[in-house]
Amino acid sequence: MIVKRLVVGPLQENTYIVGDEVTKRAMIIDPGDEPDRILDEIKVNGLEVSAIIFTHAHFDHIGAAGDLKKETGAKILMHKNDKETFSLAKDQAAFWGFELDDIPMPDEFIDEGDKVKVGNLSFKVMHTPGHSKGGICLLGEGIVLTGDTIFQGSVGRTDFPGGSIEELKSSFKRLIELPEDLQILSGHGPETTVGRERKENFFVGEL
Ligand SMILES: [Zn+2]
Ligand SMILES: [Zn+2]
Repeated sequence: MIVKRLVVGPLQENTYIVGDEVTKRAMIIDPGDEPDRILDEIKVNGLEVSAIIFTHAHFDHIGAAGDLKKETGAKILMHKNDKETFSLAKDQAAFWGFELDDIPMPDEFIDEGDKVKVGNLSFKVMHTPGHSKGGICLLGEGIVLTGDTIFQGSVGRTDFPGGSIEELKSSFKRLIELPEDLQILSGHGPETTVGRERKENFFVGEL
C-alpha cells in the first residue's frame, strides 16, 4: 500500500494519498490546499485517483478538491450530516482571513458501515461525530484515517457549529477500543497508534 502525507495550507492540514500498489488506484483524503503539490505526488507515483474523501467539511480539509476533481475526474464523498458545515466553509475560511475556491458539491454520501474500495484495498466507514456532525473515519489495511476526531495526544475542537463534546466522547471511545497496533493518521500533526493514545491521550481522562 502507498500512503503519502502532505502537510498543506496555512493550518498545516494533513492531506493523505492512499493507493494500491498493484492496481495503482488511489483515494485522496482531505485535500485541504496546494492542489499542484498533491497532483505532482499522484503523478510521481503513477496513481489514478478514484475518490476524493472528506473526513469532514471544514475549509482546511476541502480547499483543493475543486482543482483535483477537475484534473482527476474523481468523485467527492462525505457524510451527509456535514452538508451544513460544507455550506458554511467559505464563510468560515473568510472568518479566519482566507479565501476558499468554489468546491463542487459532493457526488455521494457515505455512512457508518459503508465500504470504500480502492483497487484491492478496502476501508470501512465509521461515522464519528463530535468535531463536526458528519465526521467520519476510514478504517482498514492496518490504518485508520481520523480527520480531526483524534490527534496525537489530543482531540478536535467541539466549539464550531455542529460540534458536540458528548458525541466526541463516544466517537473517541470507539477509536481507542480498536486494536492497539492500528496506525492513526490524523488531520493535523504526526501519526500515532491506538495503543499509544489509549495510554497518553489527555482525553482518556475526560471520558
Ligand atoms: Zn476540522
Ligand atoms: Zn482541521
